[in-house]
Amino acid sequence: MVAALRTTRWRLRVRGLVQGVGFRPHVYRLARALDLAGSVRNTADGATIEVEGGAESLAAFHRRLLAELPPVARIDTVAVDSMPAAGVSGFRIEPSQGGKRPEACVLPDLATCPACLAELFDPADRRYRYPFINCTHCGPRLSIISGLPYDRANTTMAGFRMCADCAREYADPADRRFHAQPNACPECGPQLAFLDAGGRSVAAREAALAEAVARLAAGDIVAVKGLGGFHLMADAGGGAAVERLRRRKHRPRKPLAVMAADLPMAEAVCRVSPDEAALLCSPQAPIVLLARRGGGLPEALAPGNPNLGVMLAYTPLHHLLLKALGRPLVATSGNLSDEPICAEETEAVARLAGIADGFLVHDRPIQRPVDDSVVQIAAGRPMLLRGGRGYAPLGLTRPEPGSPGVAVGAFLKDTVAVATRAHWVLGPHIGDLDSVKARDAFRRTLADLEALYGVVPRWVARDRHPDYPSSTAAEALGPPAILVQHHHAHVAAVMAEHGLHGEVLGVAWDGVGLGDDGAPWGGEFLRATRAGYRRVAAVRPFSMPGGDRAAREPWRCAAGLRFAAGLEPLDARGREAAGAAAATLVRMLERGVNSPVTTSVGRLFDAVASLLGLCHRSSFEGEAAMALQFQAERAGAGHGAYRFPLQAGERVAVLDWEPGLAALLADREAGAGVPVMAARFHGGLADALAAVARSEGLPRVVLGGGCFQNRHLLRLAVERLGRDGVHAFWPAQVPANDGGIALGQLAVACAQNAQGVDHVSGGAG
Ligand code: ZN
Ligand code: ZN
Ligand code: FE
Repeated sequence: MVAALRTTRWRLRVRGLVQGVGFRPHVYRLARALDLAGSVRNTADGATIEVEGGAESLAAFHRRLLAELPPVARIDTVAVDSMPAAGVSGFRIEPSQGGKRPEACVLPDLATCPACLAELFDPADRRYRYPFINCTHCGPRLSIISGLPYDRANTTMAGFRMCADCAREYADPADRRFHAQPNACPECGPQLAFLDAGGRSVAAREAALAEAVARLAAGDIVAVKGLGGFHLMADAGGGAAVERLRRRKHRPRKPLAVMAADLPMAEAVCRVSPDEAALLCSPQAPIVLLARRGGGLPEALAPGNPNLGVMLAYTPLHHLLLKALGRPLVATSGNLSDEPICAEETEAVARLAGIADGFLVHDRPIQRPVDDSVVQIAAGRPMLLRGGRGYAPLGLTRPEPGSPGVAVGAFLKDTVAVATRAHWVLGPHIGDLDSVKARDAFRRTLADLEALYGVVPRWVARDRHPDYPSSTAAEALGPPAILVQHHHAHVAAVMAEHGLHGEVLGVAWDGVGLGDDGAPWGGEFLRATRAGYRRVAAVRPFSMPGGDRAAREPWRCAAGLRFAAGLEPLDARGREAAGAAAATLVRMLERGVNSPVTTSVGRLFDAVASLLGLCHRSSFEGEAAMALQFQAERAGAGHGAYRFPLQAGERVAVLDWEPGLAALLADREAGAGVPVMAARFHGGLADALAAVARSEGLPRVVLGGGCFQNRHLLRLAVERLGRDGVHAFWPAQVPANDGGIALGQLAVACAQNAQGVDHVSGGAG
């Protein structure tokens, strides 16, 4: 070969998500294709490439490096230095630089890639129908990592010795499976087994798969061990199987997710927009909320709900199952009611006894349970509702380096987060902390994140509520606690996600969180920075007779709202809903016993849902508010809005619901349609939100809290703010609900630390 006339050497320092995603083989193939000499190696925060050759080849290398990235890799920055050529030949992949712990190296589990899928169904391929096929672009990561660095010995694949063929692929830089840590084949890798309801193994390999397919086709419920845990699966089209699953799982109405083999199967039962199709087919392969088609799957999958949570098969095992069945399957987390997902056979057989008729299992251990993520398109963009597989842990760059710490979240839908010196990492969905299992998972997840990211916390951020299990756990950890107000955390989470600094108007609408005055807040307007806030307006308070029970029994909220308006707490409908509890309730309200006064928009939704006869008792969180949202969406546009005027208050302005309530009751009296009344209620809240924004005059408004998962409310609010020239920010990658609180707590704690607020007195600085 003729040496180029003028060779130059470039050093490219790449930062981003470039480890464990097939980045080095990509660089290797590209350099070879362009006849460039040099090397690539992983570093603590990315990769360093040295290439030498002609100027044109180097420019082409730089261009194609970015343009032809492997599917999951992400480049944040490339710094290029030019230097004299060293006259080397050949291109090498060098061993990782040891020493410093890489911060950005924990990768999520990824759905089977198209290349592996093609091999799975190719009779000529040596991995034909092998349920554990994977490569550097797909397969398990987080769920099998037992330690760092990410090498096979530090995964649950350590016990499987690669055969000669697999070892050759693993060692060949030109192969798609170069350094694919879970690489395996039918000769050397994990295998399937089928266990009967009592946990006895009755079939193995292909026979195990065939048994599961036969059982599912016959209407049985089968617990299937997947990537990050067990699913309970059943024929989604079989009404009887779905009813049985609901009965056995004690889950009367909460929606059940469905798994489809591919996009056409999903499109046969739901309407799928291009954005939704992109989400379904992404390597993250989340559950996506889709509008169901009439005449599709049984109503019982999501009673009264026009949407259905659908995901596509994301492991080779799922592909084999669904291809054999040819129709969608219910795929709900293998757990009891709201407990964390099961990840291990013995535990699954014990805990799911009485629910599952059989178990399809395999011998690749799951190091940490990972639940499916849930996403919807809201106001034109993806919005994460539950962070798990593919999305968590979510890493963000910390605005200024500082001392490491942790945040423990709140109570419902809890997550935890850790701050390294340079990053924030939000962990996966854990669940409501009201079960022993969930509290165990909370402790495990926190310890796990600390270990993975090498965090030894100097401080612990927690909710102001002293009685949350997360708060008591935080106090027991040792380092000084930083108390963060719940709604400030909601606002700060959105600020952190969108990189906002300075002052914003924060609108935090949720169920309840403890306010500075000791009352349960939930309809808050805060002039907020990351470090602090001033409450400028809130929803007019009303009673929640029965306290926490009011959250599960919307009829109580309706009574509290009417009482606060000076009306009889229970009208004829209210008395019917209350039943035997009616007399006690009225006494409670009149004497102010066990009737905390709240500003919660979530409870306001509950009250209105009950007043409209949609839901008096909810079987899962958010049921009543969702029913109201679906009615409003049915109504379409052009129905006007109830009036929720802004009144001057003593210290904070008050968003008064009374005129709106009066109009709603008059509408109801006049026989107006429920969808129209629901639409007017939503419109009124969006108008009121925009009115507060106008009166505060800040150019940026942040929307946070579980109420903004309501995509009808979100869209109306964003439209109204947009018309006023206000820039609205809302959650996308971080849950709007309390699943985002931990990140907000980190953001507040770090901002306060950076401003020198002395939380860490006694610490060594
Ligand atoms: Zn693959
Ligand atoms: Zn092999
Ligand atoms: Fe909240």
